[in-house]
Amino acid sequence: MRYISTRGQAPALNFEDVLLAGLATDGGLYVPENLPRFTQEEIASWAGLPYHELAFRVMRPFVTGSIPDADFKKILEETYGVFSHSAIAPLRQLNGNEWVLELFHGPTLAFKDFALQLLGRLLDYVLEKRGERVVIIGATSGDTGSAAIEGCKHCENVDIFILHPHKRVSEVQRRQMTTIFGENIHNIAIEGNFDDCQEMVKNSFADQSFLKGTRLVAVNSINWARIMAQIVYYFHAALQLGGPARSVSFSVPTGNFGDIFAGYLARNMGLPINQLIVATNRNDILHRFMSGNQYVKETLHATLSPSMDIMVSSNFERLLFDMHGRNGAALAELMNSFKQGGGFSVEQERWTETRKLFDSLAVDDEQTCATIAEVYAQTGEVLDPHTAIGVKAARECRRSLDIPMVILGTAHPVKFPEAVEKAGVGKALELPEHLANLFEREERCTVLANDLKAVQAFVSQHGNRGKPL
Ligand SMILES: *Cc1c(COP(=O)(O)O)cnc(C)c1O
Repeated sequence: MRYISTRGQAPALNFEDVLLAGLATDGGLYVPENLPRFTQEEIASWAGLPYHELAFRVMRPFVTGSIPDADFKKILEETYGVFSHSAIAPLRQLNGNEWVLELFHGPTLAFKDFALQLLGRLLDYVLEKRGERVVIIGATSGDTGSAAIEGCKHCENVDIFILHPHKRVSEVQRRQMTTIFGENIHNIAIEGNFDDCQEMVKNSFADQSFLKGTRLVAVNSINWARIMAQIVYYFHAALQLGGPARSVSFSVPTGNFGDIFAGYLARNMGLPINQLIVATNRNDILHRFMSGNQYVKETLHATLSPSMDIMVSSNFERLLFDMHGRNGAALAELMNSFKQGGGFSVEQERWTETRKLFDSLAVDDEQTCATIAEVYAQTGEVLDPHTAIGVKAARECRRSLDIPMVILGTAHPVKFPEAVEKAGVGKALELPEHLANLFEREERCTVLANDLKAVQAFVSQHGNRGKPL
C-alpha cells in the first residue's frame, strides 16, 4: 500500500515510512493512495470473529508489503489483549435501537487506547527491524498523553516525552501519566498553557538539531496508523447489529475529526453506513461547516468536554481532499488561504454531496450535563461528557428510527468527574480495578519553565533511555 499527501507535493511513502512520518513535507497529511474495498459477502463472513482477528482482516491491506501476516496477527493479539473487557468494544443498549459502543475498556479508559496501544507496538516492531531508535514528543491536555505513554511503556526503541500544562490537567489525567515509570518515559509539566506545550512540539519538529540525528515521531491524531486502527470498531459494531445486510448509523463526539474520519473510511471500504453525525461541544468549527458551509476559526472555549476543545480540526483536511476530487494542488491553495486567516466555503455541490452522509450538532455544557442526567434517569448508566454530547446529537439529528444508531462512547465517566458531578450523578462513580489505587501511587514528573530551549535541553539529556542522546 502506498500513501500520498493531501497537498500533492510530498513523495508517496509505504506504510513503514508513513508510520514514522507525521506531517508530509509539503504540510499535508498522508492518506492511502487507493482505499481497499470489501464485498458484502466478505464482510458478512467476519461475523463473530474475536476483535483482534477482525482487526487483522480490516487493516491487513494497509500494512501489506511492510509487515508479514504472522507478525501483524501477533501484534494485534497483544494489543487488544491488554483491554479489560473480553468483548474489547462492547455495545450497550440505551434505548430502542440506540446503542453506546464502549471504547473505554483500555488501560487509560478512553478510545485513544485502541490506536495508541497499536501504534507503540508497530513503532517498536519497525524500529527493531531497522535497528533505529526514535524520540516522541507530544503535547496533551489529558487523554492523548496517558494513552501514548501506556502504548509506549514497553517499547525498547522509543523514548517518549509528554508535555502537559502544569496544574491545568485533571488529577486523574495527570496521575494516569505520572504514575507510569520506565527509563524511556518522561513527563514534563510546563509552566504555561496547552497552546504553549503544542507550540513547543511544533517548533521541535521544525528544527530537530537538538536531537543529534535521532528521528522525531508524531503521536497526535494526524498519524495515519491511529486513524487506521479506529476503522476497525465501526465494522465490529455494525456486524453485531445485523450489518452488512442492514445499514447502521453512528454519532461521533469529535474535535479533530479523527474518529469520525475513520467511520467515513469504513463506509468507503464497503460497510453500509447510513448517517454519520458530527457531535461537537461549543468549539464548533465542524458543526458550522456541516450546517452552514463555513469553515472559520474562532476563539477557544474551555468546556466540560476538554478533549474536544479545539479551534481547528486537524484531520478535516483528509475529508476536504476527497471532497475536492483528491486534487492536491486545490487543497494546498485552500489550506494556505485558511492559514492566512481567511475562512472558506466549498462549492455548493461539493457541500451538498457531503451532507448526504454527514449531519452535525454543537452541544453546550448545560445540555451536556442535562443529557448525562437524562440518560442516568432512563437507564442507570453514567455517561462521560464527550459521550453525552454524542447521545444528544444522535437524538437530535437521527434520520430514521429503523436504522440502529451507535454512539461512540469515547471515555469512561470517571475521567471527567466535574461534568458528572454537575449533572448530579457523581456518587455512582468508581475507578475500575486496575486503577483502584491511582491516588496512592507515587508520581514522577519534571516541572520546566515555558522555555523551548530548556525543554529541548532536557530531551537531549534524557532521550536515550534516560541518558544523553
Ligand atoms: C480525543 C477525544 C475525543 C475527540 O477525538 P477526535 O479524534 O478529535 O475526533 C473525544 N472524546 C474523548 C474522550 C477523547 O479523548
